[in-house]
Amino acid sequence: MTPLIAKLVWWTGVVGWYVIRYPHQRRARKTPTASRRELTRERVLLAISFAGLFIIPVIYVTTGEPRFADYPFRPVLAWLGTLVFALSLLLFYHTHRDLGRFWSVTLEIRQTHRLVTTGVYRYVRHPMYAAFFLWAIAQALLLPNWIASLAGLVGFGTLFGFRIGREERMMEGTFGDAYRAYAARTWRVLPGVF
Ligand code: SAH
Repeated sequence: MTPLIAKLVWWTGVVGWYVIRYPHQRRARKTPTASRRELTRERVLLAISFAGLFIIPVIYVTTGEPRFADYPFRPVLAWLGTLVFALSLLLFYHTHRDLGRFWSVTLEIRQTHRLVTTGVYRYVRHPMYAAFFLWAIAQALLLPNWIASLAGLVGFGTLFGFRIGREERMMEGTFGDAYRAYAARTWRVLPGVF
């Protein structure tokens, strides 16, 4: 493993991510929405997350900037990052398959929305966010630069921190006791921890 290969792994992961998401994004545009929460606020959070998971690392892998934040490359970390990125793609694929047409990029309730509690949703309530955290961890392990590596965790962590409570209140408001019961028997992102 060399720094160049680690960068290529990062690119491959991002392309894989997009390939998995693309068909769902197309279908989401055609799926009618019943209600939508705080669209502007959600868009700002999405922009912060996108900057951390994509824009800042893209600048680093294409230009090598900001060089002052470089640290020595460790092949073992990059191998680990490759493994974590593969796991994140696998989980991301399953979350999209299980959530189907109820997925949305901002907080929305679809017409004919149902509560999904099967597949990976049986174990945690936010497996897609868990997949994003795995992506951010993989980025941190693959890119030997403090700013490029930590940007993903900070960017996605900001979205997650400001969204999760609102999303759960929206789900509780829509599904009531069914969601409360589901929340009582599941963890948020990591079983046994949070
Ligand atoms: N937080 C989830 C889903 C992210 S997509 C995860 O991390 O896997 C965000 C949209 O998914 C929300 O707008 C909400 O409408 C929908 N959603 C979240 N959890 C759901 C569930 N268990 N069943 C059905 N829809 C859900």
